[in-house]
Amino acid sequence: MKYINLFPKIKVFLNIYLYFSYMVEENNEIVTKRYICKICNSTHSIKINKDLLKGKTKFPFPYVILHDSIIKNELKEVLTILYVDNNLEIRHTEIQEIVDDNLFSKSQVVEMTKTLFEENERLREDVAILTKELNKLKRLKAFYKRILLRLKPVN
Ligand SMILES: [Zn+2]
Repeated sequence: MKYINLFPKIKVFLNIYLYFSYMVEENNEIVTKRYICKICNSTHSIKINKDLLKGKTKFPFPYVILHDSIIKNELKEVLTILYVDNNLEIRHTEIQEIVDDNLFSKSQVVEMTKTLFEENERLREDVAILTKELNKLKRLKAFYKRILLRLKPVN
């Protein structure tokens, strides 16, 4: 008969549980919101990071996003300005298709540039967080590997 010590197994499950509860906590910082896009004629969902509220004093604030849309085999670029309030609710949307002869107002250009800078900053932070997560996963992988080797039944 083969005997397997249950203790390492319990430890593995405990670690998996702790890891996922941590992930859930992390994900709470991001909320999913929906808005109707009149150009695609559909509802889009967008993930908004709660960090976005940091440093904002005026609400609702404009949040600019760009997305591609294929309508009748035609690729369209859609500029969307979402006006987000302090509860991360979308209060108003401004949606327009970008075409070559589009003229943007000065304030729109300022908003777009500002958003790109903020987005860049957020991506930089995301990279740091993801690198940390990746290293954690690597350590977990090594940990499980060691345990699995130990779990191999001895004949
Ligand atoms: Zn759309």
